[in-house]
Amino acid sequence: MSEAGDVDVLVLGGGPGGYALAARSAQAGLKTALVEAARLGGVCLTQGCIPSKALIELSGKIAGTRELAPFLAGGIPAEPQVELGRVMAWKDGIVDRLNTGVVKAMARAGVEVVQGWGTMQDARTCIVRGAGGDRSFRARHVVLATGSEAAALAAVPFGGPVISSTEALGLAALPQHLVVIGAGYIGLELGMAFRKLGARVTVLEAASQILPQFDAALVAPVRRRLQQLDIAVHTGIAIDGVEVADGQATLSIVDNGTARTVAADKMLVTVGRRPRLAGWGRENLGIGVKDGAIRIDERCMTTVERIWAIGDVTGGPMLAHRATAQAHVVADQLAGKVARFDPVAIPSICFTDPEIVSVGALPQQAGDRAAIAVAQLSFAGNGRALTLAPGEVDGFLRIVARRADRRILGIQAVGPHVSELSGEFVALLEMGAVVEDVRDMIHAHPTLGELLHEAAHSLH
Ligand code: FAD
Repeated sequence: MSEAGDVDVLVLGGGPGGYALAARSAQAGLKTALVEAARLGGVCLTQGCIPSKALIELSGKIAGTRELAPFLAGGIPAEPQVELGRVMAWKDGIVDRLNTGVVKAMARAGVEVVQGWGTMQDARTCIVRGAGGDRSFRARHVVLATGSEAAALAAVPFGGPVISSTEALGLAALPQHLVVIGAGYIGLELGMAFRKLGARVTVLEAASQILPQFDAALVAPVRRRLQQLDIAVHTGIAIDGVEVADGQATLSIVDNGTARTVAADKMLVTVGRRPRLAGWGRENLGIGVKDGAIRIDERCMTTVERIWAIGDVTGGPMLAHRATAQAHVVADQLAGKVARFDPVAIPSICFTDPEIVSVGALPQQAGDRAAIAVAQLSFAGNGRALTLAPGEVDGFLRIVARRADRRILGIQAVGPHVSELSGEFVALLEMGAVVEDVRDMIHAHPTLGELLHEAAHSLH
């Protein structure tokens, strides 16, 4: 083993939490080592946010060609046949490009990137096992950013045709029938994308509603679109087990009291993600764990001084922008500043068709119904929304405000491209805007954001 020596900061895990932290820490003049076993960028860049959004966009464009039929003489000459290998190659190209960007950014900042699997021996020592042998680091500060992994279903273990989102994003051939188990955002985003690429898709969900983190009104346009796309959605499903033979998986389920089977050549299990707590020496650190995640305080410090933790390994919401925001909070403190992770709002986006964005409180979370005012306006009257694609526009934008002082408590939208409105929604909540602030802001025409302005007017 080679003694790599002392560093000021050792970061374990190079996802959007870890690499953001490492760059800021090195820029502040601290000797920083970033340990990553796979590729820089983590789940988000290589197996999550970016590859899934690439697939969603491209599948949307391919499906969109069918909607152009009424405008073309003779209609669409033939049903588009997708070459999945080329779709994946395009997606991989985007991942490679962004990964190269992160590699260069680390080099520019002066971060030492250590390729290999890190294991904490004690609160200050990490041994990294890489291709060139083992290296040992002593660190003044340790930042744990080991991320999360797909949760497995005991009755349907991963393997063969039973896959997680990671394998789904690297499939070489289009499944004939894809069964998605779990109707959260990852399952529905990928299910809709594969349907648009040409696969038959069935969604099974244990709860009584899909996307249970949102209210029924926000989810309704997505439900209607699933129906339009001919994706069968079954809620209230209990799964008993799976049998695999000849590359086919057959699920035994209880569908609202009735036992039956469902067969498919691919079963995508998307029942959530779990903080990655095992395999890297957590037990040698004496840090606290709460609800299956590393326990941290508002500084992002674990229960042991100078061991910090950020991102998915600290629990939910498991989102890349939360991991990065926590990284900045820790980086500020390492540079000697006072900082706390105390955001007013963490935006939540579902890149389904149509998209859902939610910032702050939903109406039922905002308190006593009599104390709040809600304005909900349809995109069907918004000029920009109507120009985005042929066909009906299904969606709305909603402002939730407190009656007493007009303070905006939450903003939600469901509709085409509404994810791009999230920045404005967050800014308004973070800056403590009242309804009249939005009413007095000029929104460009024609844009989706005009509906926010109109909603503020109607509340006023
Ligand atoms: P991760 O990105 O999980 O990175 C952790 C890294 O640590 C990994 O690269 C791993 O190899 C490395 N590592 C772990 N342990 C060790 C060790 N001992 N030694 C060396 N290396 C180690 N979030 C969004 O905000 N928007 C989205 O649209 C979105 N879409 C998603 C779609 C999918 C399909 C999935 C799966 C996730 C999606 N997410 C999305 C979630 C997002 O990917 C995570 O919230 C984010 O990646 C968490 O960042 P992180 O830094 O905590 O850890």
